Amino acid sequence: MTAVAKRLKAQALLFFGPPGAGKGTQAHAVAVEFGIPHISTGEMLREAARKRTPLGLAAQVRMDRGELVSDEVVSAIAAERIARPDCASGFILDGFPRTIGQAEFLDALLDEQGRGKPLVLYIQVNSGSLLKRLGGRRICPVCGRIYNMYFNPPQHDEVCDADGARLVRRADDNDGAILHRLESYTTLTRPLIEYYRERKVLVDVDGDRAPDEVTRDVIQWVTAA
Ligand code: AMP
Repeated sequence: MTAVAKRLKAQALLFFGPPGAGKGTQAHAVAVEFGIPHISTGEMLREAARKRTPLGLAAQVRMDRGELVSDEVVSAIAAERIARPDCASGFILDGFPRTIGQAEFLDALLDEQGRGKPLVLYIQVNSGSLLKRLGGRRICPVCGRIYNMYFNPPQHDEVCDADGARLVRRADDNDGAILHRLESYTTLTRPLIEYYRERKVLVDVDGDRAPDEVTRDVIQWVTAA
């Protein structure tokens, strides 16, 4: 076991919560702190769509509508990524699993690989703020930095503080897709809270605070005593 694995409470850290809760921001900060990969299934699917692979193009239609991609497709890409050597001592999953079927698939995989139970960080936010969090989100296409026009705006109108690039909206951060994403979360993803609570691996994190404060809390939760 490496030094990194010894400092983490679990090899598989899962960032869980509704769209717009800040999973990506927190997952990124923890990945940097521990030097482990940040695996975002949404980002992998967007990358496949940008490269216009058959899988990417099929997924894009569903993503643009705010619908989930099938369990089979998403579980296969997650498993392939986790199998790479850089995940040997630990990894972060952001946006996976999103259904009970995916959670069962992941449990079986972790078991098979002798990696133990996951640790699930459930980032809770006031549902009233979700629309602003998603509608206000802007991303730098050059460095990937995430802003929010309401809560964390750039210094100058819609350009990145770091590199001056014009910020963009994600294709699925429009009103129609946002509503579908919140619906999918409620019906298909939210049941995972009970699934993981019963297994005693879920930690509640108050996400309605400044991102740095949330990060400090999350780092405490994932660090082994
Ligand atoms: P995200 O970047 O996590 O918000 O994901 C963007 C979109 O990718 C989602 O709205 C889904 O269409 C798709 N997606 C990402 N992860 C999953 C998953 N675990 N299961 C099904 N669809 C997913």
